[in-house]
Amino acid sequence: MVLQDLGRRINSAVTDLTRSPTLTEKAFDGMIKEICNALMEADVNIRLVTSLRKTIKSSVKLDQLPPHANKKRIIQKAVFDALVDIVNPHQTAYQPKKGKSNVIMFVGLQGAGKTTTCTKLARWYQARGFKTCLVCADTFRAGAFDQLKQNAIKAKIPYYGSLTQTDPVVVARDGVAKFKKERFEIIIVDTSGRHHQEDALFAEMVEIQGAVQPHQTVMVLDASIGQAAEAQSRAFKETADFGAIIITKTDGAAAGGGAISAVAATHTPIVFIGTGEHLLDLERFNPQSFVSKLLGMGDMQGLMELVQSQNLDQKPTMKNISAGKFTVRDMRDQIQNVTKMGPLSKMAGMIPGMGNMMQGMDDEDASLKIKRMIYICDSMTAKELDSDGKIFSEQPTRMVRIARGSGTSVREVEEFLSQQQTMAGVAKSAKGMQANAQKAQGQM
Ligand code: GDP
Repeated sequence: MVLQDLGRRINSAVTDLTRSPTLTEKAFDGMIKEICNALMEADVNIRLVTSLRKTIKSSVKLDQLPPHANKKRIIQKAVFDALVDIVNPHQTAYQPKKGKSNVIMFVGLQGAGKTTTCTKLARWYQARGFKTCLVCADTFRAGAFDQLKQNAIKAKIPYYGSLTQTDPVVVARDGVAKFKKERFEIIIVDTSGRHHQEDALFAEMVEIQGAVQPHQTVMVLDASIGQAAEAQSRAFKETADFGAIIITKTDGAAAGGGAISAVAATHTPIVFIGTGEHLLDLERFNPQSFVSKLLGMGDMQGLMELVQSQNLDQKPTMKNISAGKFTVRDMRDQIQNVTKMGPLSKMAGMIPGMGNMMQGMDDEDASLKIKRMIYICDSMTAKELDSDGKIFSEQPTRMVRIARGSGTSVREVEEFLSQQQTMAGVAKSAKGMQANAQKAQGQM
Protein backbone atom coordinates (compact mmCIF):
# COMPACT_ATOMS: atom_id res chain seq x y z
CA MET A 1 0.00 0.00 0.00
CA VAL A 2 1.29 3.42 -0.92
CA LEU A 3 1.97 5.76 1.99
CA GLN A 4 -0.69 8.19 0.87
CA ASP A 5 -3.31 5.44 0.87
CA LEU A 6 -2.12 4.35 4.28
CA GLY A 7 -2.64 7.88 5.59
CA ARG A 8 -6.07 8.05 4.04
CA ARG A 9 -7.14 4.76 5.58
CA ILE A 10 -5.90 5.61 9.05
CA ASN A 11 -7.51 9.00 8.82
CA SER A 12 -10.86 7.69 7.75
CA ALA A 13 -10.80 5.03 10.48
CA VAL A 14 -10.36 7.78 13.07
CA THR A 15 -12.88 10.12 11.45
CA ASP A 16 -15.53 7.40 11.07
CA LEU A 17 -15.24 6.54 14.72
CA THR A 18 -15.27 10.08 16.03
CA ARG A 19 -18.20 11.06 13.79
CA SER A 20 -20.38 8.19 14.93
CA PRO A 21 -22.91 9.23 17.60
CA THR A 22 -22.14 6.26 19.86
CA LEU A 23 -18.51 5.91 20.70
CA THR A 24 -18.38 2.44 22.22
CA GLU A 25 -15.43 0.32 23.29
CA LYS A 26 -16.28 -2.08 20.46
CA ALA A 27 -16.21 0.69 17.85
CA PHE A 28 -12.92 1.93 19.31
CA ASP A 29 -11.41 -1.56 19.02
CA GLY A 30 -12.69 -1.71 15.44
CA MET A 31 -10.84 1.50 14.64
CA ILE A 32 -7.60 0.18 16.13
CA LYS A 33 -8.00 -3.02 14.13
CA GLU A 34 -8.52 -1.11 10.89
CA ILE A 35 -5.42 1.01 11.57
CA CYS A 36 -3.37 -2.12 12.29
CA ASN A 37 -4.60 -3.83 9.12
CA ALA A 38 -3.69 -0.79 7.06
CA LEU A 39 -0.21 -0.68 8.59
CA MET A 40 0.39 -4.38 7.94
CA GLU A 41 -0.75 -4.06 4.36
CA ALA A 42 1.81 -1.28 4.04
CA ASP A 43 4.49 -3.75 5.15
CA VAL A 44 5.04 -2.34 8.62
CA ASN A 45 6.54 -5.03 10.80
CA ILE A 46 4.02 -7.00 12.86
CA ARG A 47 5.88 -6.42 16.13
CA LEU A 48 5.57 -2.67 15.66
CA VAL A 49 1.91 -2.97 14.78
CA THR A 50 1.26 -5.02 17.92
CA SER A 51 3.01 -2.49 20.06
CA LEU A 52 1.06 0.35 18.43
CA ARG A 53 -2.18 -1.48 19.17
CA LYS A 54 -1.23 -1.75 22.85
CA THR A 55 -0.10 1.87 23.08
CA ILE A 56 -3.33 3.27 21.64
CA LYS A 57 -5.44 0.96 23.74
CA SER A 58 -3.67 1.85 26.95
CA SER A 59 -3.52 5.58 26.32
CA VAL A 60 -7.26 6.02 25.82
CA LYS A 61 -9.61 4.75 28.51
CA LEU A 62 -13.00 5.53 27.05
CA ASP A 63 -14.95 4.71 30.22
CA GLN A 64 -12.77 6.95 32.34
CA LEU A 65 -13.04 10.06 30.19
CA PRO A 66 -14.95 12.95 31.75
CA PRO A 67 -18.37 13.42 30.06
CA HIS A 68 -17.44 16.67 28.34
CA ALA A 69 -13.97 15.62 27.20
CA ASN A 70 -13.20 16.18 23.53
CA LYS A 71 -13.06 12.48 22.65
CA LYS A 72 -12.22 13.12 19.03
CA ARG A 73 -9.14 15.14 19.92
CA ILE A 74 -8.03 12.59 22.54
CA ILE A 75 -8.32 9.66 20.13
CA GLN A 76 -6.66 11.58 17.30
CA LYS A 77 -3.79 12.51 19.57
CA ALA A 78 -3.34 8.93 20.78
CA VAL A 79 -3.18 7.63 17.19
CA PHE A 80 -0.87 10.44 16.17
CA ASP A 81 1.52 9.84 19.09
CA ALA A 82 1.58 6.07 18.52
CA LEU A 83 2.43 6.55 14.83
CA VAL A 84 5.13 9.09 15.64
CA ASP A 85 6.59 6.57 18.04
CA ILE A 86 7.00 4.05 15.21
CA VAL A 87 9.16 6.39 13.16
CA ASN A 88 10.92 8.01 16.08
CA PRO A 89 14.23 6.30 16.90
CA HIS A 90 14.72 8.56 19.95
CA GLN A 91 18.19 9.33 18.68
CA THR A 92 19.43 12.44 16.97
CA ALA A 93 21.54 12.34 13.85
CA TYR A 94 24.86 14.11 13.37
CA GLN A 95 24.42 17.77 12.49
CA PRO A 96 27.09 19.07 10.08
CA LYS A 97 28.83 22.15 11.36
CA LYS A 98 29.75 25.22 9.39
CA GLY A 99 33.40 26.15 9.13
CA LYS A 100 34.70 22.56 9.33
CA SER A 101 34.95 19.63 6.93
CA ASN A 102 32.04 17.25 7.49
CA VAL A 103 32.51 13.92 5.71
CA ILE A 104 29.30 12.05 4.90
CA MET A 105 29.61 8.55 3.43
CA PHE A 106 26.75 6.82 1.61
CA VAL A 107 26.15 3.07 1.75
CA GLY A 108 23.32 0.90 0.46
CA LEU A 109 22.22 -1.66 -2.06
CA GLN A 110 22.73 -1.20 -5.75
CA GLY A 111 19.81 0.68 -7.27
CA ALA A 112 18.62 2.08 -3.93
CA GLY A 113 19.21 5.60 -5.18
CA LYS A 114 22.60 6.40 -3.61
CA THR A 115 24.17 8.31 -6.47
CA THR A 116 21.01 10.33 -7.12
CA THR A 117 20.56 11.09 -3.42
CA CYS A 118 24.21 12.13 -2.96
CA THR A 119 23.69 14.95 -5.41
CA LYS A 120 20.31 15.86 -3.93
CA LEU A 121 21.86 16.10 -0.49
CA ALA A 122 24.84 18.08 -1.77
CA ARG A 123 22.47 20.55 -3.39
CA TRP A 124 20.39 20.71 -0.20
CA TYR A 125 23.43 21.78 1.83
CA GLN A 126 24.70 24.03 -0.93
CA ALA A 127 21.36 25.89 -0.91
CA ARG A 128 21.88 26.45 2.81
CA GLY A 129 25.24 28.10 2.38
CA PHE A 130 27.61 25.15 2.87
CA LYS A 131 30.64 24.73 0.58
CA THR A 132 29.76 21.31 -0.79
CA CYS A 133 31.35 18.63 -3.00
CA LEU A 134 31.04 15.01 -4.12
CA VAL A 135 33.48 12.09 -4.23
CA CYS A 136 32.71 9.04 -6.36
CA ALA A 137 34.26 5.95 -4.75
CA ASP A 138 32.18 3.56 -6.82
CA THR A 139 34.73 1.92 -9.08
CA PHE A 140 32.69 -1.28 -9.19
CA ARG A 141 29.79 -0.25 -11.40
CA ALA A 142 30.75 0.84 -14.89
CA GLY A 143 29.35 4.28 -15.53
CA ALA A 144 28.90 5.20 -11.86
CA PHE A 145 31.45 8.02 -12.03
CA ASP A 146 29.90 9.30 -15.23
CA GLN A 147 26.46 9.38 -13.63
CA LEU A 148 27.73 11.27 -10.57
CA LYS A 149 29.66 13.66 -12.81
CA GLN A 150 26.59 14.47 -14.92
CA ASN A 151 24.49 15.07 -11.81
CA ALA A 152 27.20 17.18 -10.18
CA ILE A 153 27.69 19.33 -13.28
CA LYS A 154 23.94 19.90 -13.51
CA ALA A 155 23.84 20.99 -9.87
CA LYS A 156 27.09 22.98 -10.20
CA ILE A 157 28.78 20.98 -7.45
CA PRO A 158 32.54 20.23 -7.54
CA TYR A 159 33.27 16.50 -7.79
CA TYR A 160 36.16 14.04 -7.65
CA GLY A 161 36.55 10.59 -9.19
CA SER A 162 38.86 8.56 -11.39
CA LEU A 163 38.44 6.68 -14.63
CA THR A 164 41.73 4.82 -14.19
CA GLN A 165 42.11 4.09 -10.48
CA THR A 166 40.30 0.84 -9.69
CA ASP A 167 40.81 0.82 -5.93
CA PRO A 168 37.82 2.63 -4.35
CA VAL A 169 39.70 3.10 -1.07
CA VAL A 170 42.41 5.11 -2.82
CA VAL A 171 39.86 7.22 -4.73
CA ALA A 172 37.88 7.93 -1.56
CA ARG A 173 40.98 8.80 0.48
CA ASP A 174 42.46 11.07 -2.23
CA GLY A 175 39.15 12.81 -2.94
CA VAL A 176 38.40 13.52 0.69
CA ALA A 177 41.99 14.70 1.36
CA LYS A 178 41.87 17.07 -1.62
CA PHE A 179 38.55 18.62 -0.63
CA LYS A 180 39.53 18.88 3.03
CA LYS A 181 42.59 20.82 1.98
CA GLU A 182 40.37 23.11 -0.05
CA ARG A 183 38.24 23.66 3.04
CA PHE A 184 35.03 22.19 1.72
CA GLU A 185 32.42 21.95 4.47
CA ILE A 186 30.29 19.05 3.21
CA ILE A 187 32.17 16.21 1.51
CA ILE A 188 29.81 13.48 0.35
CA VAL A 189 31.32 10.11 -0.57
CA ASP A 190 29.34 7.76 -2.81
CA THR A 191 30.35 4.11 -2.55
CA SER A 192 29.54 1.19 -4.79
CA GLY A 193 26.26 -0.64 -4.43
CA ARG A 194 26.10 -3.93 -2.67
CA HIS A 195 24.00 -6.96 -3.13
CA HIS A 196 23.13 -8.58 0.13
CA GLN A 197 25.80 -10.90 1.58
CA GLU A 198 28.64 -9.89 -0.69
CA ASP A 199 31.43 -10.28 1.78
CA ALA A 200 34.15 -8.73 -0.37
CA LEU A 201 32.12 -5.62 -0.98
CA PHE A 202 31.21 -5.36 2.69
CA ALA A 203 34.91 -5.54 3.55
CA GLU A 204 35.60 -2.79 1.03
CA MET A 205 32.94 -0.60 2.62
CA VAL A 206 34.63 -0.96 6.00
CA GLU A 207 37.99 -0.14 4.45
CA ILE A 208 36.63 3.05 2.88
CA GLN A 209 35.13 3.98 6.22
CA GLY A 210 38.51 3.51 7.84
CA ALA A 211 40.22 5.59 5.15
CA VAL A 212 37.89 8.61 5.13
CA GLN A 213 36.70 8.52 8.77
CA PRO A 214 33.22 9.84 8.02
CA HIS A 215 31.43 12.01 10.56
CA GLN A 216 28.26 10.39 9.38
CA THR A 217 27.53 7.19 7.47
CA VAL A 218 24.16 7.27 5.74
CA MET A 219 22.33 4.14 4.67
CA VAL A 220 20.15 4.66 1.60
CA LEU A 221 17.04 2.48 1.62
CA ASP A 222 14.60 2.01 -1.20
CA ALA A 223 11.02 2.43 0.12
CA SER A 224 9.79 -0.28 -2.21
CA ILE A 225 11.76 -3.22 -0.86
CA GLY A 226 9.12 -4.05 1.71
CA GLN A 227 9.80 -6.44 4.56
CA ALA A 228 13.32 -7.18 3.27
CA ALA A 229 14.39 -3.71 4.41
CA GLU A 230 14.74 -4.79 7.99
CA ALA A 231 17.14 -7.68 7.39
CA GLN A 232 19.17 -5.64 4.95
CA SER A 233 19.57 -2.69 7.21
CA ARG A 234 20.52 -4.97 10.10
CA ALA A 235 23.29 -6.50 7.95
CA PHE A 236 24.58 -3.04 7.04
CA LYS A 237 24.30 -1.85 10.61
CA GLU A 238 26.42 -4.74 11.87
CA THR A 239 29.12 -4.01 9.32
CA ALA A 240 29.12 -0.28 8.69
CA ASP A 241 27.24 1.01 11.73
CA PHE A 242 25.49 3.83 9.89
CA GLY A 243 24.14 6.72 11.92
CA ALA A 244 21.35 7.90 9.65
CA ILE A 245 18.92 6.61 7.05
CA ILE A 246 17.57 8.19 3.89
CA ILE A 247 14.51 6.50 2.42
CA THR A 248 14.19 6.96 -1.32
CA LYS A 249 11.30 6.53 -3.74
CA THR A 250 8.60 7.41 -1.23
CA ASP A 251 6.72 8.78 -4.25
CA GLY A 252 6.58 5.30 -5.77
CA ALA A 253 3.72 2.87 -5.96
CA ALA A 254 5.07 0.44 -3.36
CA ALA A 255 4.56 0.15 0.35
CA GLY A 256 6.93 2.19 2.49
CA GLY A 257 6.24 0.40 5.74
CA GLY A 258 9.17 -1.99 5.42
CA ALA A 259 11.67 0.83 5.25
CA ILE A 260 9.96 2.53 8.16
CA SER A 261 10.21 -0.66 10.22
CA ALA A 262 13.95 -0.72 9.54
CA VAL A 263 14.25 2.49 11.51
CA ALA A 264 12.83 0.85 14.59
CA ALA A 265 14.97 -2.26 14.09
CA THR A 266 18.23 -0.32 13.87
CA HIS A 267 17.32 2.58 16.21
CA THR A 268 18.57 4.95 13.58
CA PRO A 269 16.98 8.25 12.58
CA ILE A 270 15.68 8.86 9.09
CA VAL A 271 17.19 12.19 8.11
CA PHE A 272 15.69 12.75 4.69
CA ILE A 273 13.25 11.13 2.30
CA GLY A 274 13.50 11.06 -1.48
CA THR A 275 10.24 12.06 -3.12
CA GLY A 276 11.05 11.86 -6.83
CA GLU A 277 13.76 11.66 -9.45
CA HIS A 278 14.38 15.37 -9.65
CA LEU A 279 17.29 17.06 -7.88
CA LEU A 280 14.95 19.00 -5.62
CA ASP A 281 12.92 15.97 -4.59
CA LEU A 282 14.44 15.58 -1.15
CA GLU A 283 12.68 16.46 2.08
CA ARG A 284 14.05 16.69 5.56
CA PHE A 285 12.43 14.03 7.73
CA ASN A 286 10.87 14.78 11.05
CA PRO A 287 8.67 12.16 12.78
CA GLN A 288 5.91 14.59 13.78
CA SER A 289 5.83 16.31 10.39
CA PHE A 290 5.84 13.00 8.57
CA VAL A 291 2.87 11.60 10.49
CA SER A 292 1.09 14.93 10.33
CA LYS A 293 1.42 14.95 6.56
CA LEU A 294 0.53 11.28 6.32
CA LEU A 295 -2.72 12.01 8.08
CA GLY A 296 -3.44 15.09 6.00
CA MET A 297 -2.86 17.38 8.96
CA GLY A 298 -0.19 19.40 7.20
CA ASP A 299 3.44 19.95 8.01
CA MET A 300 3.87 23.36 9.48
CA GLN A 301 7.53 22.87 10.33
CA GLY A 302 8.37 21.57 6.86
CA LEU A 303 6.53 24.45 5.29
CA MET A 304 8.36 27.02 7.37
CA GLU A 305 11.70 25.40 6.61
CA LEU A 306 10.96 25.41 2.91
CA VAL A 307 9.81 29.01 2.96
CA GLN A 308 12.97 29.98 4.81
CA SER A 309 15.22 28.13 2.38
CA GLN A 310 13.59 29.92 -0.55
CA ASN A 311 14.24 33.34 0.96
CA LEU A 312 10.60 34.29 0.60
CA ASP A 313 9.34 37.09 2.75
CA GLN A 314 7.53 35.49 5.63
CA LYS A 315 8.62 37.50 8.63
CA PRO A 316 5.12 38.65 9.67
CA THR A 317 3.83 35.06 9.61
CA MET A 318 6.80 33.77 11.58
CA LYS A 319 6.21 36.50 14.13
CA ASN A 320 2.55 35.60 14.42
CA ILE A 321 3.27 31.89 14.71
CA SER A 322 5.76 32.42 17.50
CA ALA A 323 3.05 34.41 19.27
CA GLY A 324 0.65 31.46 18.80
CA LYS A 325 -1.41 33.23 16.12
CA PHE A 326 -2.21 32.53 12.49
CA THR A 327 -4.41 35.10 10.77
CA VAL A 328 -6.35 34.85 7.52
CA ARG A 329 -3.64 36.99 5.91
CA ASP A 330 -0.97 34.53 7.08
CA MET A 331 -2.95 31.79 5.39
CA ARG A 332 -3.10 33.80 2.17
CA ASP A 333 0.64 34.59 2.27
CA GLN A 334 1.52 30.94 2.82
CA ILE A 335 -0.68 29.83 -0.06
CA GLN A 336 0.95 32.44 -2.25
CA ASN A 337 4.38 31.19 -1.18
CA VAL A 338 3.40 27.64 -2.00
CA THR A 339 2.61 28.64 -5.55
CA LYS A 340 6.17 29.95 -5.92
CA MET A 341 7.87 26.88 -4.52
CA GLY A 342 7.31 23.92 -6.76
CA PRO A 343 4.87 21.24 -7.79
CA LEU A 344 1.64 22.19 -6.09
CA SER A 345 0.38 18.70 -5.47
CA LYS A 346 3.46 18.14 -3.29
CA MET A 347 3.53 21.47 -1.51
CA ALA A 348 -0.16 21.35 -0.69
CA GLY A 349 0.44 18.41 1.65
CA MET A 350 2.29 20.76 3.96
CA ILE A 351 -0.68 22.99 4.68
CA PRO A 352 -3.04 21.43 7.22
CA GLY A 353 -6.15 20.06 5.55
CA MET A 354 -5.02 20.96 2.08
CA GLY A 355 -3.27 17.66 1.32
CA ASN A 356 -6.53 15.79 1.83
CA MET A 357 -8.46 18.29 -0.18
CA MET A 358 -6.10 18.01 -3.08
CA GLN A 359 -5.61 14.29 -3.02
CA GLY A 360 -5.99 12.83 -6.46
CA MET A 361 -5.68 16.22 -8.16
CA ASP A 362 -3.02 16.84 -10.75
CA ASP A 363 -0.97 20.02 -10.72
CA GLU A 364 -3.36 21.81 -13.02
CA ASP A 365 -6.40 21.16 -10.83
CA ALA A 366 -4.42 21.98 -7.69
CA SER A 367 -3.24 25.22 -9.23
CA LEU A 368 -6.82 26.22 -10.09
CA LYS A 369 -7.95 25.43 -6.57
CA ILE A 370 -5.20 27.58 -5.11
CA LYS A 371 -5.99 30.43 -7.47
CA ARG A 372 -9.59 30.39 -6.27
CA MET A 373 -8.37 30.63 -2.67
CA ILE A 374 -6.33 33.68 -3.57
CA TYR A 375 -9.44 35.23 -5.21
CA ILE A 376 -11.27 34.59 -1.95
CA CYS A 377 -8.59 36.45 -0.01
CA ASP A 378 -8.56 39.28 -2.53
CA SER A 379 -12.24 39.87 -1.83
CA MET A 380 -11.67 40.34 1.88
CA THR A 381 -11.22 43.64 3.68
CA ALA A 382 -7.95 44.38 5.48
CA LYS A 383 -9.75 43.92 8.79
CA GLU A 384 -10.94 40.47 7.74
CA LEU A 385 -7.49 39.46 6.52
CA ASP A 386 -5.84 40.49 9.74
CA SER A 387 -8.45 38.78 11.88
CA ASP A 388 -8.15 35.38 13.50
CA GLY A 389 -11.01 34.26 11.24
CA LYS A 390 -13.65 34.05 13.96
CA ILE A 391 -15.58 37.06 12.63
CA PHE A 392 -16.77 34.90 9.75
CA SER A 393 -18.57 32.43 11.94
CA GLU A 394 -19.95 35.32 14.01
CA GLN A 395 -21.21 37.09 10.89
CA PRO A 396 -21.76 34.47 8.17
CA THR A 397 -23.08 37.09 5.72
CA ARG A 398 -19.45 38.08 5.25
CA MET A 399 -18.85 34.72 3.62
CA VAL A 400 -21.74 35.24 1.21
CA ARG A 401 -20.32 38.64 0.23
CA ILE A 402 -16.84 37.20 -0.30
CA ALA A 403 -18.11 34.27 -2.36
CA ARG A 404 -20.01 36.68 -4.58
CA GLY A 405 -17.06 39.06 -4.91
CA SER A 406 -14.56 36.35 -5.74
CA GLY A 407 -16.74 34.33 -8.08
CA THR A 408 -16.51 31.29 -5.79
CA SER A 409 -19.06 29.46 -3.67
CA VAL A 410 -19.85 29.92 0.00
CA ARG A 411 -18.74 26.33 0.50
CA GLU A 412 -15.31 27.12 -0.88
CA VAL A 413 -15.02 30.15 1.40
CA GLU A 414 -16.03 28.01 4.35
CA GLU A 415 -13.56 25.33 3.40
CA PHE A 416 -10.76 27.87 3.13
CA LEU A 417 -11.58 29.37 6.50
CA SER A 418 -11.80 26.01 8.15
CA GLN A 419 -8.23 25.30 7.02
CA GLN A 420 -7.10 28.62 8.39
CA GLN A 421 -8.76 27.70 11.69
CA THR A 422 -6.92 24.36 11.73
CA MET A 423 -3.65 26.15 11.14
CA ALA A 424 -4.49 28.70 13.86
CA GLY A 425 -5.14 25.75 16.20
CA VAL A 426 -1.76 24.25 15.32
CA ALA A 427 -0.01 27.58 15.94
CA LYS A 428 -1.79 27.96 19.28
CA SER A 429 -0.91 24.47 20.48
CA ALA A 430 2.68 24.85 19.23
CA LYS A 431 2.96 27.98 21.33
CA GLY A 432 1.44 26.11 24.29
CA MET A 433 3.93 23.28 23.89
CA GLN A 434 6.79 25.74 23.69
CA ALA A 435 5.62 27.45 26.87
CA ASN A 436 5.33 24.11 28.67
CA ALA A 437 8.81 23.07 27.51
CA GLN A 438 10.24 26.36 28.75
CA LYS A 439 8.43 25.90 32.04
CA ALA A 440 9.78 22.37 32.36
CA GLN A 441 13.30 23.58 31.57
CA GLY A 442 12.96 26.28 34.16
CA GLN A 443 12.06 23.66 36.74
CA MET A 444 15.08 21.52 36.02
P1 GDP B 1 22.43 3.62 -6.84
O1 GDP B 1 22.73 2.37 -7.61
O2 GDP B 1 22.10 3.31 -5.42
O3 GDP B 1 23.48 4.65 -6.96
O4 GDP B 1 21.06 4.19 -7.46
P2 GDP B 1 20.81 5.40 -8.45
O5 GDP B 1 21.10 6.69 -7.80
O6 GDP B 1 21.48 5.12 -9.74
O7 GDP B 1 19.21 5.33 -8.60
C1 GDP B 1 18.52 4.22 -9.15
C2 GDP B 1 17.23 4.73 -9.77
O8 GDP B 1 16.35 5.21 -8.76
C3 GDP B 1 17.42 5.90 -10.73
O9 GDP B 1 16.62 5.70 -11.87
C4 GDP B 1 16.94 7.12 -9.94
O10 GDP B 1 16.43 8.13 -10.78
C5 GDP B 1 15.85 6.49 -9.10
N1 GDP B 1 15.58 7.24 -7.85
C6 GDP B 1 16.42 7.59 -6.86
N2 GDP B 1 15.77 8.24 -5.87
C7 GDP B 1 14.47 8.30 -6.23
C8 GDP B 1 13.27 8.83 -5.62
O11 GDP B 1 13.25 9.38 -4.49
N3 GDP B 1 12.12 8.68 -6.33
C9 GDP B 1 12.07 8.07 -7.55
N4 GDP B 1 10.89 7.97 -8.16
N5 GDP B 1 13.17 7.55 -8.14
C10 GDP B 1 14.35 7.66 -7.50
